[in-house]
This record gives sequence, C-alpha cells and structure tokens, in this order.
Amino acid sequence: METARPASLASSGTVGVTNPGGSSPFVLTCDHASNFLPAEFGTLGLAAEDLSRHIAWDPGALPVALRMAQALDATLVETRISRLVIDCNRPLDAPDLVPPVSETTAIPGNAGLSEKQRAARVALSWQPFHGTIERIIEDRLARGQETRLVSVHSFTPVYKGRNRPWHIGIIHDDDRRLAAPLIGALRRLAGVTVGVNEPYSPADRVYFTLERHARSRGLPCAMIEIRNDEISGETGQRKWADLLTGIFSNLEPEEARGSRQRAVG
Ligand SMILES: [Zn+2]
Repeated sequence: METARPASLASSGTVGVTNPGGSSPFVLTCDHASNFLPAEFGTLGLAAEDLSRHIAWDPGALPVALRMAQALDATLVETRISRLVIDCNRPLDAPDLVPPVSETTAIPGNAGLSEKQRAARVALSWQPFHGTIERIIEDRLARGQETRLVSVHSFTPVYKGRNRPWHIGIIHDDDRRLAAPLIGALRRLAGVTVGVNEPYSPADRVYFTLERHARSRGLPCAMIEIRNDEISGETGQRKWADLLTGIFSNLEPEEARGSRQRAVG
C-alpha cells in the first residue's frame, strides 16, 4: 500500500507534509493516515491483526490523498501515528480522543491513563498535526492565497454487523459551498453510490479538523470518506484519486461561482 513519496516532501517527526507550497486552492488532510505505533506503546495490548484493521487507521486513504496532492499540486498534511494512540480528528474533550474501545474492540493500552500520559499523547501527535495545519493555513491567508480544506478518510464496509452501501460519502455541516458541487459531480458518475452525511455526520463529532481550521475561518471545506474495500490496492487507489482529481480540478465553491458569474455579467 506504500506509494512513492513526492520529492517535495518536507516532513518532520509525527506529521507529514507534502507540497508545502502547493499552488492549488485545496489543502488536504489525512487525519488517520497511519497505523504506526511508536515502540513505547507496544501493541497497546492488541493482536497484530487488530493493528492492521480499520480501527487503527484509514486503510487506503493516504495513497489516495498523496496521489491527489501530486496531481493537483495541493498541500497535504498527514498524521504518522495511529489513531489508537490519539485521534487527531477529535476535540481534546472527546471521550474517544484516546479510544478505550474502537468499534467493538477494547484497547487495553488505553485504559486508566493518567493526565500526564494523555498530555504526552496530545504533545506527540495531536498538537503537531493541528499546529502544522494552522501554520500552513495562516501562511496562505497572509499571502492572500485562496484556501479550501478537504479531509480524506476511509471507512469499513461492515460496521457492527451492518453493511454500508455507499462507495463514497461526503460529510458536511450547514456550509455546503464545497460539498454541494462535490456531491453533484459524484452523483453524475455511473455506478457510484454517494452517501450524504453517511456513514457519519458532523453530529457524530467527526468534523473536528474542519471545524477547527476551516469553519472557524469561514473557509469552504468538506470531508471525504471512501469505502476502504474500494481502495485496498493500487488499482482502486489510482481510480479514486484520478476521479477525485478530475472533479476537484473543475470544482468551484458555490458562492464563488455565483459571484464570478455576477462579476462577468
Ligand atoms: Zn478517518
């Protein structure tokens, strides 16, 4: 599942940054990119097979996001530590920030942590991830560079015994500027079942990265969830990355498109 790293990679420690000076208006994040556990955490008490499952990361999401970043010349920020250590797409007060249970699997290594242990995890992964996104967006806005934030995730085809029919889901809140044209473009594709606020919605508190960095600044944003059996191999990763790149290349937030038409007319 490894994709060749772009030459312009400028990363350090627990956060990866691709194309830091990307020319695209889109900034991509991959919040659950890695299932890596630093040695100090052992296996968190889990079996090796659990660590390769979706509970540890979003399988396939990073190769898709990397390919999109390269094709669009977009900046991509990715986590490099498993969400089982700390979930970067959760607010600091979320009960599943350091998940005691994921789906139906108890995480022994996350039970009974001290405040100091929790704070160390925040400092290890959560803070660097959000600090990096913050700096990138502030730099872009200071330069007057148009910025739209998109997070790329993947979801498991079966959750708690329920089949999920969508190939891709677009998650948004009441700001639909980016989500509406994205959903429209995806719905025009033959054979693609599009979930709207499926399999999750912002009410499930899964919209944190976008709330923190985009909604707080009034920037257009959307969350993409691709069903992970669609992107388990390179062929599917290429297919979805190319498809989304094509859509993103022509995607204008609804408000911007409206004002441009008015300006021309
Ligand atoms: Zn995710």
